[in-house]
Amino acid sequence: MEITFDFETEGVVQEDPFLDSYELALLFEQTRQEIESGLRRKLHQVICAEHGQPPRITISGRYNHDSEQMDIQYHIDTCCQMFLVRVVKMLNVQG
Ligand SMILES: [Zn+2]
Repeated sequence: MEITFDFETEGVVQEDPFLDSYELALLFEQTRQEIESGLRRKLHQVICAEHGQPPRITISGRYNHDSEQMDIQYHIDTCCQMFLVRVVKMLNVQG
């Protein structure tokens, strides 16, 4: 399974920011590790039964300096629709 992380900041840095650039780098790193271990646990060695392909997952994180909020989006690429449905179901399992 291939996991790609794409973390960026946007907006204008506030005068007295809630997170400085060091803390922001830490936040990105922690978020990356949490998401990756969660994905690897939930999707452990899963491959498409028909095509033998693993899913490819892209995680986009956007930290907005104006709102000081982090927005995380998952994008999943699979060889076929059937496998995508299966992967999404597995990801939606709690825990
Ligand atoms: Zn497939």
